[in-house]
Amino acid sequence: MKRKMVMVPGPIEFSPEVLNAMAVPTANHVSGEFIECFGESLEMLKDVFVAPDYSPFIIAGSGTLAMDISVCNIIEPGDRVLVVDSGYFSQRMADIIRWYGGQVDLLQDKVGDIPCPEDVEKALEKGIYRAVTITHVDTSTSVLADIKNITRVAKKAGCLVIVDGVAGAAGARCQTSEWGIDIYFTASQKAVGAPPGLALLVVSPEAMDVFHNRKTPVMNYYASFQNWLPIMEAYQNRGPAYFGTPAVNNVRALNVALKQIIEEGLEKRFTRHEKIAGAFREGIRAMGLQIVPVKEEKAAPTLTAIYYPNSEGKNLVKYMEEEGIVVAGGLHPEIKDKYFRIGHMGSCCGQDIILVISALESCLKKLDSRYEIGKGLTACRQKLYEINNQVKGKEGPDEQ
Ligand SMILES: *Cc1c(COP(=O)(O)O)cnc(C)c1O
Repeated sequence: MKRKMVMVPGPIEFSPEVLNAMAVPTANHVSGEFIECFGESLEMLKDVFVAPDYSPFIIAGSGTLAMDISVCNIIEPGDRVLVVDSGYFSQRMADIIRWYGGQVDLLQDKVGDIPCPEDVEKALEKGIYRAVTITHVDTSTSVLADIKNITRVAKKAGCLVIVDGVAGAAGARCQTSEWGIDIYFTASQKAVGAPPGLALLVVSPEAMDVFHNRKTPVMNYYASFQNWLPIMEAYQNRGPAYFGTPAVNNVRALNVALKQIIEEGLEKRFTRHEKIAGAFREGIRAMGLQIVPVKEEKAAPTLTAIYYPNSEGKNLVKYMEEEGIVVAGGLHPEIKDKYFRIGHMGSCCGQDIILVISALESCLKKLDSRYEIGKGLTACRQKLYEINNQVKGKEGPDEQ
Protein backbone atom coordinates (compact mmCIF):
# COMPACT_ATOMS: atom_id res chain seq x y z
CA MET A 1 0.00 0.00 0.00
CA LYS A 2 1.23 3.44 -0.89
CA ARG A 3 1.87 5.64 2.15
CA LYS A 4 -0.06 8.90 2.07
CA MET A 5 0.40 12.14 3.92
CA VAL A 6 -2.88 13.89 4.72
CA MET A 7 -2.44 17.65 4.45
CA VAL A 8 -6.06 18.81 4.21
CA PRO A 9 -7.47 21.34 6.70
CA GLY A 10 -8.85 18.59 8.96
CA PRO A 11 -8.86 15.73 9.62
CA ILE A 12 -5.10 16.06 10.00
CA GLU A 13 -2.26 13.61 10.65
CA PHE A 14 -2.76 12.45 14.25
CA SER A 15 0.11 11.47 16.52
CA PRO A 16 0.61 7.72 17.21
CA GLU A 17 -0.06 8.28 20.94
CA VAL A 18 -3.42 9.88 20.12
CA LEU A 19 -4.35 7.06 17.74
CA ASN A 20 -3.34 4.40 20.26
CA ALA A 21 -5.68 5.96 22.80
CA MET A 22 -8.58 5.24 20.41
CA ALA A 23 -7.75 1.52 20.51
CA VAL A 24 -7.92 1.06 24.29
CA PRO A 25 -10.93 -1.08 25.38
CA THR A 26 -13.95 1.18 25.85
CA ALA A 27 -14.54 1.92 29.53
CA ASN A 28 -17.94 2.33 31.14
CA HIS A 29 -18.66 6.07 30.82
CA VAL A 30 -19.40 6.37 34.55
CA SER A 31 -16.39 4.34 35.70
CA GLY A 32 -13.90 6.10 37.95
CA GLU A 33 -11.24 5.73 35.32
CA PHE A 34 -13.25 7.48 32.62
CA ILE A 35 -14.63 10.15 34.96
CA GLU A 36 -11.02 11.13 35.70
CA CYS A 37 -10.15 11.22 32.00
CA PHE A 38 -13.20 13.32 31.09
CA GLY A 39 -12.83 15.67 34.07
CA GLU A 40 -9.19 16.23 33.29
CA SER A 41 -9.96 16.85 29.60
CA LEU A 42 -12.51 19.53 30.50
CA GLU A 43 -9.94 21.26 32.69
CA MET A 44 -7.28 21.06 29.97
CA LEU A 45 -9.74 22.53 27.46
CA LYS A 46 -9.96 25.64 29.67
CA ASP A 47 -6.15 25.77 29.84
CA VAL A 48 -5.69 25.45 26.08
CA PHE A 49 -8.29 28.16 25.36
CA VAL A 50 -6.95 30.27 28.25
CA ALA A 51 -10.41 30.56 29.78
CA PRO A 52 -10.02 29.67 33.47
CA ASP A 53 -13.45 30.81 34.69
CA TYR A 54 -15.45 29.60 31.66
CA SER A 55 -17.76 26.59 31.36
CA PRO A 56 -16.17 23.92 29.17
CA PHE A 57 -18.17 21.48 27.02
CA ILE A 58 -17.03 18.33 25.22
CA ILE A 59 -19.94 16.86 23.26
CA ALA A 60 -20.06 14.11 20.63
CA GLY A 61 -20.55 15.70 17.24
CA SER A 62 -18.62 17.67 14.64
CA GLY A 63 -17.68 21.34 14.49
CA THR A 64 -21.10 22.14 13.07
CA LEU A 65 -22.64 20.91 16.34
CA ALA A 66 -20.40 23.39 18.20
CA MET A 67 -21.78 26.14 15.92
CA ASP A 68 -25.33 24.94 16.57
CA ILE A 69 -24.80 24.83 20.37
CA SER A 70 -23.31 28.34 20.40
CA VAL A 71 -26.25 29.82 18.55
CA CYS A 72 -29.29 27.93 19.85
CA ASN A 73 -28.53 28.57 23.52
CA ILE A 74 -27.75 32.26 23.20
CA ILE A 75 -29.79 33.67 20.34
CA GLU A 76 -33.55 34.15 20.67
CA PRO A 77 -36.03 34.84 17.88
CA GLY A 78 -35.76 38.48 16.83
CA ASP A 79 -32.19 38.97 18.13
CA ARG A 80 -29.96 40.82 15.69
CA VAL A 81 -26.54 39.34 15.04
CA LEU A 82 -23.68 40.82 13.06
CA VAL A 83 -21.80 38.11 11.19
CA VAL A 84 -18.30 39.18 10.22
CA ASP A 85 -18.10 37.33 6.93
CA SER A 86 -14.78 35.90 5.79
CA GLY A 87 -16.08 32.97 3.74
CA TYR A 88 -17.87 29.64 3.65
CA PHE A 89 -18.24 29.00 7.39
CA SER A 90 -19.43 32.56 8.16
CA GLN A 91 -22.28 31.84 5.75
CA ARG A 92 -23.06 28.62 7.61
CA MET A 93 -23.10 30.58 10.87
CA ALA A 94 -25.57 33.02 9.30
CA ASP A 95 -27.79 30.10 8.22
CA ILE A 96 -27.82 28.66 11.75
CA ILE A 97 -28.70 32.03 13.31
CA ARG A 98 -31.61 32.45 10.86
CA TRP A 99 -32.69 28.85 11.58
CA TYR A 100 -33.29 29.84 15.22
CA GLY A 101 -35.13 33.04 14.31
CA GLY A 102 -32.26 35.51 14.61
CA GLN A 103 -31.85 38.43 12.21
CA VAL A 104 -28.53 38.40 10.43
CA ASP A 105 -26.57 41.33 9.07
CA LEU A 106 -23.54 40.21 7.08
CA LEU A 107 -20.49 42.42 7.09
CA GLN A 108 -18.58 41.41 4.00
CA ASP A 109 -15.37 42.18 2.19
CA LYS A 110 -13.92 40.83 -1.02
CA VAL A 111 -12.75 37.22 -1.19
CA GLY A 112 -9.42 36.86 0.61
CA ASP A 113 -10.08 39.82 2.88
CA ILE A 114 -12.05 40.41 6.08
CA PRO A 115 -13.60 43.56 7.56
CA CYS A 116 -11.23 45.34 9.97
CA PRO A 117 -12.16 46.24 13.57
CA GLU A 118 -13.04 49.82 12.49
CA ASP A 119 -15.52 48.48 9.91
CA VAL A 120 -17.12 46.34 12.62
CA GLU A 121 -17.29 49.31 14.99
CA LYS A 122 -19.09 51.40 12.34
CA ALA A 123 -21.53 48.60 11.51
CA LEU A 124 -22.40 48.18 15.18
CA GLU A 125 -23.34 51.88 15.43
CA LYS A 126 -26.21 51.25 13.02
CA GLY A 127 -28.31 49.02 15.26
CA ILE A 128 -28.69 47.15 18.50
CA TYR A 129 -27.03 43.77 18.24
CA ARG A 130 -27.19 40.83 20.63
CA ALA A 131 -24.02 39.26 19.29
CA VAL A 132 -21.16 39.39 16.82
CA THR A 133 -19.76 36.23 15.25
CA ILE A 134 -16.27 35.89 13.79
CA THR A 135 -14.47 33.00 12.12
CA HIS A 136 -10.96 32.85 13.60
CA VAL A 137 -9.44 31.17 10.56
CA ASP A 138 -11.65 30.87 7.52
CA THR A 139 -11.09 27.40 6.12
CA SER A 140 -12.30 28.37 2.65
CA THR A 141 -9.85 31.25 2.16
CA SER A 142 -7.15 30.76 4.85
CA VAL A 143 -7.87 34.28 6.07
CA LEU A 144 -6.98 35.01 9.70
CA ALA A 145 -9.30 37.36 11.60
CA ASP A 146 -8.07 39.95 14.10
CA ILE A 147 -10.33 38.44 16.76
CA LYS A 148 -8.66 40.39 19.57
CA ASN A 149 -9.57 43.81 18.21
CA ILE A 150 -12.89 42.84 16.67
CA THR A 151 -13.89 41.46 20.08
CA ARG A 152 -12.75 44.69 21.73
CA VAL A 153 -15.06 46.87 19.61
CA ALA A 154 -17.94 44.38 19.86
CA LYS A 155 -17.75 44.26 23.66
CA LYS A 156 -17.65 48.08 23.74
CA ALA A 157 -20.94 48.02 21.85
CA GLY A 158 -22.41 45.63 24.44
CA CYS A 159 -22.48 42.52 22.25
CA LEU A 160 -21.71 38.91 23.03
CA VAL A 161 -18.87 37.59 20.89
CA ILE A 162 -18.95 34.10 19.39
CA VAL A 163 -15.76 32.92 17.70
CA ASP A 164 -15.67 29.93 15.37
CA GLY A 165 -12.20 28.66 16.14
CA VAL A 166 -12.58 25.34 14.31
CA ALA A 167 -9.65 25.87 11.93
CA GLY A 168 -7.69 28.08 14.33
CA ALA A 169 -7.89 26.73 17.88
CA ALA A 170 -4.57 25.43 19.26
CA GLY A 171 -2.74 26.68 16.15
CA ALA A 172 -3.63 30.40 15.97
CA ARG A 173 -3.29 32.66 19.01
CA CYS A 174 -6.30 33.16 21.24
CA GLN A 175 -6.56 34.48 24.80
CA THR A 176 -10.26 33.76 25.18
CA SER A 177 -10.90 35.25 28.62
CA GLU A 178 -8.45 38.17 28.45
CA TRP A 179 -9.75 39.26 25.04
CA GLY A 180 -13.37 39.03 26.23
CA ILE A 181 -14.60 36.36 23.80
CA ASP A 182 -17.84 34.84 25.12
CA ILE A 183 -17.90 31.57 23.24
CA TYR A 184 -14.87 30.02 21.60
CA PHE A 185 -15.34 26.66 19.95
CA THR A 186 -13.61 24.09 17.80
CA ALA A 187 -13.78 20.45 16.72
CA SER A 188 -11.36 17.69 17.65
CA GLN A 189 -10.08 16.89 14.13
CA LYS A 190 -8.41 20.16 13.24
CA ALA A 191 -5.44 21.87 14.96
CA VAL A 192 -6.28 20.21 18.30
CA GLY A 193 -5.17 16.93 16.71
CA ALA A 194 -7.64 14.19 17.70
CA PRO A 195 -9.87 12.11 15.39
CA PRO A 196 -13.17 13.66 14.26
CA GLY A 197 -16.15 13.25 16.56
CA LEU A 198 -16.05 15.90 19.28
CA ALA A 199 -17.39 19.45 19.52
CA LEU A 200 -15.37 21.51 22.00
CA LEU A 201 -16.52 24.80 23.53
CA VAL A 202 -15.81 27.20 26.34
CA VAL A 203 -18.54 29.63 27.42
CA SER A 204 -18.12 32.82 29.46
CA PRO A 205 -20.05 33.53 32.68
CA GLU A 206 -21.73 36.45 30.83
CA ALA A 207 -22.97 34.18 28.04
CA MET A 208 -24.18 31.68 30.64
CA ASP A 209 -26.19 34.50 32.29
CA VAL A 210 -27.75 35.32 28.92
CA PHE A 211 -28.68 31.65 28.59
CA HIS A 212 -30.16 31.50 32.11
CA ASN A 213 -32.23 34.65 31.48
CA ARG A 214 -33.77 33.62 28.18
CA LYS A 215 -37.41 34.53 27.60
CA THR A 216 -38.03 31.67 25.17
CA PRO A 217 -37.09 27.97 25.40
CA VAL A 218 -34.05 26.63 23.52
CA MET A 219 -35.46 25.08 20.33
CA ASN A 220 -33.02 22.18 20.33
CA TYR A 221 -32.98 19.20 22.67
CA TYR A 222 -29.57 17.54 22.19
CA ALA A 223 -27.69 20.86 21.99
CA SER A 224 -29.26 22.56 25.00
CA PHE A 225 -26.97 23.79 27.78
CA GLN A 226 -29.78 22.81 30.15
CA ASN A 227 -29.06 19.16 29.43
CA TRP A 228 -25.27 19.34 29.23
CA LEU A 229 -24.23 21.87 31.88
CA PRO A 230 -24.95 19.55 34.86
CA ILE A 231 -23.06 16.74 33.13
CA MET A 232 -19.95 18.81 32.47
CA GLU A 233 -20.05 20.14 36.04
CA ALA A 234 -20.39 16.64 37.48
CA TYR A 235 -17.38 15.31 35.52
CA GLN A 236 -15.30 18.31 36.59
CA ASN A 237 -16.20 17.50 40.19
CA ARG A 238 -15.24 13.89 39.39
CA GLY A 239 -18.72 12.55 39.84
CA PRO A 240 -20.79 10.32 37.52
CA ALA A 241 -23.56 11.82 35.42
CA TYR A 242 -25.54 10.83 32.38
CA PHE A 243 -27.44 12.63 29.66
CA GLY A 244 -26.13 11.03 26.46
CA THR A 245 -23.33 8.48 26.32
CA PRO A 246 -20.05 10.31 25.79
CA ALA A 247 -17.80 9.21 22.91
CA VAL A 248 -15.50 7.41 25.35
CA ASN A 249 -12.63 6.53 22.99
CA ASN A 250 -12.69 9.94 21.30
CA VAL A 251 -12.45 11.59 24.70
CA ARG A 252 -9.49 9.38 25.56
CA ALA A 253 -7.75 10.43 22.36
CA LEU A 254 -8.62 14.07 23.01
CA ASN A 255 -7.14 13.74 26.50
CA VAL A 256 -3.81 12.68 24.98
CA ALA A 257 -3.94 15.40 22.30
CA LEU A 258 -4.62 18.12 24.90
CA LYS A 259 -1.75 16.83 27.05
CA GLN A 260 0.56 17.05 24.03
CA ILE A 261 -0.52 20.66 23.42
CA ILE A 262 0.09 21.61 27.04
CA GLU A 263 3.40 19.74 27.10
CA GLU A 264 4.63 21.65 24.04
CA GLY A 265 3.41 24.92 25.57
CA LEU A 266 0.93 27.29 23.95
CA GLU A 267 3.40 30.04 23.09
CA LYS A 268 5.79 27.59 21.49
CA ARG A 269 2.99 25.89 19.59
CA PHE A 270 1.57 29.15 18.19
CA THR A 271 5.07 30.30 17.22
CA ARG A 272 5.77 26.96 15.52
CA HIS A 273 2.60 27.28 13.43
CA GLU A 274 3.47 30.88 12.48
CA LYS A 275 7.02 29.96 11.47
CA ILE A 276 6.03 26.95 9.42
CA ALA A 277 3.25 28.87 7.68
CA GLY A 278 5.65 31.76 6.98
CA ALA A 279 8.29 29.47 5.47
CA PHE A 280 5.61 27.66 3.49
CA ARG A 281 4.31 30.93 2.00
CA GLU A 282 7.89 31.92 1.19
CA GLY A 283 8.19 28.73 -0.88
CA ILE A 284 4.79 29.31 -2.53
CA ARG A 285 5.77 32.83 -3.58
CA ALA A 286 9.11 31.67 -4.95
CA MET A 287 7.25 29.14 -7.10
CA GLY A 288 5.36 32.05 -8.64
CA LEU A 289 2.06 31.08 -7.01
CA GLN A 290 -0.38 33.46 -5.35
CA ILE A 291 -2.15 32.90 -2.04
CA VAL A 292 -5.82 33.80 -1.52
CA PRO A 293 -5.40 36.13 1.51
CA VAL A 294 -4.80 39.68 0.28
CA LYS A 295 -2.10 40.50 2.83
CA GLU A 296 0.62 38.55 4.62
CA GLU A 297 -0.71 39.52 8.06
CA LYS A 298 -4.15 38.20 7.10
CA ALA A 299 -2.76 34.76 6.18
CA ALA A 300 -3.56 31.97 8.64
CA PRO A 301 -0.91 29.92 10.47
CA THR A 302 -2.92 26.70 10.14
CA LEU A 303 -3.64 26.37 6.41
CA THR A 304 -2.90 28.10 3.12
CA ALA A 305 -5.26 28.63 0.19
CA ILE A 306 -3.40 29.01 -3.11
CA TYR A 307 -4.61 29.99 -6.59
CA TYR A 308 -3.88 27.54 -9.40
CA PRO A 309 -1.13 28.82 -11.71
CA ASN A 310 -3.18 28.32 -14.89
CA SER A 311 -6.33 26.77 -16.29
CA GLU A 312 -4.79 23.28 -16.09
CA GLY A 313 -4.30 23.87 -12.37
CA LYS A 314 -7.35 21.89 -11.36
CA ASN A 315 -5.28 18.75 -11.96
CA LEU A 316 -2.99 19.76 -9.08
CA VAL A 317 -5.03 18.02 -6.39
CA LYS A 318 -4.91 14.77 -8.41
CA TYR A 319 -1.18 15.17 -9.21
CA MET A 320 -0.42 15.82 -5.52
CA GLU A 321 -2.25 12.64 -4.58
CA GLU A 322 -0.07 10.76 -7.08
CA GLU A 323 2.91 12.20 -5.21
CA GLY A 324 1.44 10.73 -1.99
CA ILE A 325 0.19 14.01 -0.54
CA VAL A 326 -3.51 14.61 -0.02
CA VAL A 327 -4.55 18.25 -0.35
CA ALA A 328 -7.99 19.87 -0.63
CA GLY A 329 -9.70 21.59 -3.54
CA GLY A 330 -11.51 24.93 -3.36
CA LEU A 331 -14.49 25.56 -1.05
CA HIS A 332 -15.41 29.23 -1.37
CA PRO A 333 -18.28 29.34 -3.91
CA GLU A 334 -16.97 32.45 -5.71
CA ILE A 335 -13.55 31.00 -6.53
CA LYS A 336 -14.18 27.28 -6.02
CA ASP A 337 -12.52 26.08 -9.26
CA LYS A 338 -9.61 28.49 -9.14
CA TYR A 339 -7.65 27.40 -6.09
CA PHE A 340 -6.68 24.63 -3.66
CA ARG A 341 -5.91 24.38 0.05
CA ILE A 342 -3.13 22.83 2.10
CA GLY A 343 -3.40 22.29 5.86
CA HIS A 344 -0.32 22.63 8.08
CA MET A 345 -1.66 22.30 11.58
CA GLY A 346 -1.28 20.06 14.61
CA SER A 347 2.09 18.33 14.79
CA CYS A 348 3.17 19.59 11.33
CA CYS A 349 6.89 20.39 11.24
CA GLY A 350 9.45 21.94 8.91
CA GLN A 351 10.25 18.62 7.25
CA ASP A 352 6.56 18.08 6.45
CA ILE A 353 6.25 21.32 4.51
CA ILE A 354 9.52 20.60 2.69
CA LEU A 355 7.92 17.38 1.43
CA VAL A 356 4.80 19.25 0.39
CA ILE A 357 6.75 21.95 -1.48
CA SER A 358 8.91 19.31 -3.12
CA ALA A 359 5.82 17.45 -4.36
CA LEU A 360 4.20 20.70 -5.49
CA GLU A 361 7.24 21.50 -7.61
CA SER A 362 6.95 18.15 -9.40
CA CYS A 363 3.29 18.88 -10.04
CA LEU A 364 4.03 22.37 -11.38
CA LYS A 365 6.53 20.82 -13.75
CA LYS A 366 3.82 18.43 -14.94
CA LEU A 367 1.57 21.42 -15.59
CA ASP A 368 4.26 23.42 -17.40
CA SER A 369 7.48 21.76 -18.53
CA ARG A 370 9.27 25.13 -18.39
CA TYR A 371 8.89 25.21 -14.59
CA GLU A 372 12.31 25.21 -12.95
CA ILE A 373 12.35 22.70 -10.08
CA GLY A 374 14.05 23.89 -6.89
CA LYS A 375 13.01 27.55 -6.58
CA GLY A 376 10.31 26.84 -4.03
CA LEU A 377 12.37 24.37 -2.03
CA THR A 378 15.35 26.70 -1.81
CA ALA A 379 13.25 29.62 -0.58
CA CYS A 380 11.37 27.50 1.94
CA ARG A 381 14.49 25.80 3.28
CA GLN A 382 16.34 29.11 3.45
CA LYS A 383 13.52 30.60 5.53
CA LEU A 384 13.38 27.57 7.82
CA TYR A 385 17.14 27.78 8.29
CA GLU A 386 16.93 31.47 9.22
CA ILE A 387 14.12 30.77 11.66
CA ASN A 388 16.06 27.96 13.32
CA ASN A 389 19.18 30.01 13.64
CA GLN A 390 17.28 32.86 15.22
CA VAL A 391 15.98 30.63 17.98
CA LYS A 392 19.28 28.80 18.43
CA GLY A 393 20.72 29.14 21.89
CA LYS A 394 17.28 29.76 23.35
CA GLU A 395 15.52 26.54 22.52
CA GLY A 396 17.54 24.96 19.72
CA PRO A 397 16.53 24.15 16.17
CA ASP A 398 13.28 22.35 16.76
CA GLU A 399 11.67 22.84 13.36
CA GLN A 400 13.78 20.43 11.35
C1 LIG B 1 -14.32 22.50 9.63
C2 LIG B 1 -14.96 23.76 10.06
C3 LIG B 1 -16.28 23.82 10.55
C4 LIG B 1 -17.20 22.63 10.56
O1 LIG B 1 -16.70 21.57 11.25
P1 LIG B 1 -17.24 20.07 10.96
O2 LIG B 1 -16.49 19.27 11.96
O3 LIG B 1 -16.90 19.77 9.55
O4 LIG B 1 -18.70 20.11 11.19
C5 LIG B 1 -16.76 25.02 11.00
N1 LIG B 1 -16.01 26.13 10.96
C6 LIG B 1 -14.76 26.13 10.48
C7 LIG B 1 -13.98 27.39 10.48
C8 LIG B 1 -14.20 24.94 10.02
O5 LIG B 1 -12.95 24.94 9.54
